Amino acid sequence: MGGKIVSVGTTKDALRDRWLKKNRKNITEIDCGGRVVLPGFVDSHTHPVFVHPRLVDFEKRISGANYEEIAAAGGGIRSSIDGVRKASQSALTGKIVTALADFARNGTTTVEAKSGYGLDLASELKSLDAIRRAAREWPGTVVSTFLGAHVAPPEYRGRSQEYVDLICNEMMPAVAKRKLAEFVDVFCDRGAFSGEETAQIFAAAERCGLAVRAHVGQLSETRLGPLLRYHPASFDHMDYVNDADLTAVARSDTVATLVPGANYFLGLARYPEARRLIEAGVAVALATDYNPGSSPTLSMPMALSLACTHMKMSPAEAIAAATVNGAWALRLAARKGSVEAGKDADLAVFEVNDYREVPYWFGANHCTLTIMNGVPNGDLRS
Ligand SMILES: [Zn+2]
Repeated sequence: MGGKIVSVGTTKDALRDRWLKKNRKNITEIDCGGRVVLPGFVDSHTHPVFVHPRLVDFEKRISGANYEEIAAAGGGIRSSIDGVRKASQSALTGKIVTALADFARNGTTTVEAKSGYGLDLASELKSLDAIRRAAREWPGTVVSTFLGAHVAPPEYRGRSQEYVDLICNEMMPAVAKRKLAEFVDVFCDRGAFSGEETAQIFAAAERCGLAVRAHVGQLSETRLGPLLRYHPASFDHMDYVNDADLTAVARSDTVATLVPGANYFLGLARYPEARRLIEAGVAVALATDYNPGSSPTLSMPMALSLACTHMKMSPAEAIAAATVNGAWALRLAARKGSVEAGKDADLAVFEVNDYREVPYWFGANHCTLTIMNGVPNGDLRS
């Protein structure tokens, strides 16, 4: 009703529901018998605003080239920045619309979408505006994040602090004024922004009334304690984290969002230590990190499969991480992430008999129908 779940339970119980009884004639019945119905996936970490795939990076990395060699060959993040700066806003919107349709086909009904390949005021606003326009054409839910602090753009090389000042004093106020983002994200790691710079950006976000999240510990350990006082919704990647920080995160309501697609695509032997995090009491979410450089996948079933095989999460833990914990990571748990009366009607239907088959059949998509805010998308096979 109005895109919300009215009743949950056995068919017998549901049919006794007062609202359903009254409206029986006006409802469309979808018989999902013999199939698995999950809460729609909540993909809480994606970078969908880009133009071209990074095929130079892909091929060069296979042949053993390092980051500098890839950049010299015209690849790397620089190529994505050039693409976004030159693209029209409608071209970017079109790319995101296509990606959102693909997300839905793979069972995802809520997507967090970051800017971060524009890295100047006009291009970041254009990117966030493209997210907003694409979101209007999609029945699912999009949460947008300003990631001006992805990396200092080439024209600010060696002048990182000046770029941080630009983010805090010009870009972020402009984003907040236009209500173009709910979150501010920072890539806090070796070669990107320091802990001090991240704290500075978080403080500015607080002044602008925007919530925060950060990429941490992908390449090296990031000190998390000083960042926790800004109450980040999520710390993402977390490949490297020390025990003291882990205890502090477990005590907070910050979620750890793990993105094993990036480890897979970069051919890393090491994956985030999900078991260690879970045993420390940290809430773990899973996301795709959909982006052209390190994780060109928008398949949550693939992320689940990697979590099970490489991170030793059980299929049930992986599904919870990809749904309700993803919703917590976006501060949407009151509305999203589980099938409960009163929550948004976001469901994904899979042509399998057992939920464990979703991560089991890796590289295949068995989702045939999603329902997003009550709107069906796709068809069940008869
Ligand atoms: Zn990312």
